[in-house]
Amino acid sequence: MVNRDGYEEIAARLDRYADVPADVLAEVVTRDGLCFWAFDRSEFPDLSGEDTPDRELAARLCAGCPVIDECLELELRTSGADTIGVWGALADTDRREVHRAWLTRRSGAEGGEQG
Ligand code: SF4
Repeated sequence: MVNRDGYEEIAARLDRYADVPADVLAEVVTRDGLCFWAFDRSEFPDLSGEDTPDRELAARLCAGCPVIDECLELELRTSGADTIGVWGALADTDRREVHRAWLTRRSGAEGGEQG
């Protein structure tokens, strides 16, 4: 179960990517992300809108992916609060909560949000 502390921990874990340009993240994610080469995302069902099955689906879809944090950082930058679906091993509802914590951390950082 992800809670507020969990969202903040995830956002803090992403601090190390704050200075990585978005195009570099995109290159790494599309090159190494499992769903870009190992399987077809469309074989997975859509999110149900219910927390538990959606979290299980996200965990299953992204299991073993070597670029989960890079994927999450990129999605938070590009889609922000409008994010949908599974990215970064999180369902969209959890990702919106992480986005809030991420924004708070980045708004205090030099250079702010990157795109
Ligand atoms: S973390 Fe998940 S959504 Fe992102 S590239 Fe990896 S498998 Fe795909």
